[in-house]
Amino acid sequence: MQDVVEKVYEQVVARNRGEAEFHQAVREVLESLGPVISKHPHYAEDGLLERIVEPERQIMFRVPWVDDAGAVHVNRGFRIEFNSALGPYKGGLRFHPSVNAGIIKFLGFEQIFKNALTGQGIGGGKGGSDFDPHGRSDAEVMRFCQSFMTELSRHIGPNTDVPAGDIGVGGREIGYLFGQYKRLRNSYDAGVLTGKGLAWGGSLARTEATGYGTVLFAQSMLATKGDSLEGKKIAVSGAGNVAIYAIEKAQQLGAKPITFSDSSGYVVDEAGVDLELLKQVKEVERGRVADYVSRRPGARLVTEGRPWDVPVDVALPCATQNELDADSAASLLRNGCAVVAEGANMPCTPEAIEAFQAAGILYAPGKASNAGGVATSALEMEQNAGRTRWDFATAEAKLTGIMADIHDSCVAAAETYGRPGDYVLGANAAGFTRVADVMIAHGIV
Ligand code: NDP
Repeated sequence: MQDVVEKVYEQVVARNRGEAEFHQAVREVLESLGPVISKHPHYAEDGLLERIVEPERQIMFRVPWVDDAGAVHVNRGFRIEFNSALGPYKGGLRFHPSVNAGIIKFLGFEQIFKNALTGQGIGGGKGGSDFDPHGRSDAEVMRFCQSFMTELSRHIGPNTDVPAGDIGVGGREIGYLFGQYKRLRNSYDAGVLTGKGLAWGGSLARTEATGYGTVLFAQSMLATKGDSLEGKKIAVSGAGNVAIYAIEKAQQLGAKPITFSDSSGYVVDEAGVDLELLKQVKEVERGRVADYVSRRPGARLVTEGRPWDVPVDVALPCATQNELDADSAASLLRNGCAVVAEGANMPCTPEAIEAFQAAGILYAPGKASNAGGVATSALEMEQNAGRTRWDFATAEAKLTGIMADIHDSCVAAAETYGRPGDYVLGANAAGFTRVADVMIAHGIV
């Protein structure tokens, strides 16, 4: 790392003690900026780097709620409004017991550059709670969401901050959150949340967008080598929104996904994932991956580890951060895996990324490859503002165009800064320069 960048990183570590994931995300971006700052030293002037690593605003609040048995629970809520240079803060809400200030901060920081890469007018934010929706009744989830929104509603708005879903927050939760927002504000601000139901302002293709976009990005990377996903075996982790629609798009493009997972283990289905059954188990029944295996002859459940030991051509980590480490990377490379595209945020550890890059395989960081979700959220905002609704083909065509543009701008930036094929440098440089140019234009704020 260059001296100027190293100093900023040291300050981040000193100021944000114990927030390991945030340090990791900042380090990855700052490391990429060496060649950018060498070529354009003005990006290191006027405290620009110091400002970009400091959130504009962080909110932390108490979320009390009552369970079905009458017991009171107290969770912690977070919203981080990281950077509004390009537009209203935009980023999902995560409900998972592992959520803390550092996790939300890393996600918010990543979101700045991801949103910039989409080319749309959206700033970076993120939020969530350490609430665990697993095993909770609909009524409990509703009461939690209502309490969470009672505080959050003071801070968000269609032109201020527009949350969406993430781990543990899907259509059901967005519905309860929107209902409470509308009740508190006495205003039908459809554009205050994205990921809404189709009957009340949602966009067609938003549910599919992150998974579809990740696979489209992998396809674009392969195209640079004159190859495609046709006939490729794929390992997917996760069995949520991103994983399911990554599997769907991969199948549409002629590939064969053979794994998926949740926190209880992973499934190997050598015949190819039965997507209809997986959707039934996960989306309809809210079941566990074992429920798939019990109804699918030939599929097996592995309760230890993650799916990266299964021999495949392509890996799509779509569950959570740091789920693919150096040992997993070594195993994938040993088995001939030639493409890794991140559907999740920061799923590969720095050591795993180093191994992929040293081996010269195609590796896409999430801030580029999973940007299709937020891009389609911005399309949802556009439809809400115009009080219109596009058909699926129109929304999907826009998503496909945006993913191709993100891919091409990563490739172009990597070439400009002397490291062709380095998608990490390409994504960070292209995202950073777009935000930095606007921050400079806005003055020291
Ligand atoms: P979901 O809640 O729909 O699914 C998450 C999946 O990952 C579940 O199968 C879950 O299993 C598994 N998982 C989560 N945490 C862990 C863990 N600590 N260990 C093992 N398995 C885990 O979330 P999404 O699909 O929406 O999100 C997945 C990833 O994609 C996240 O990193 C998210 O930030 C990222 N992302 C999501 C976008 C979106 O549009 N939804 C947009 C861009 C990125 P279990 O149910 O057992 O916990």
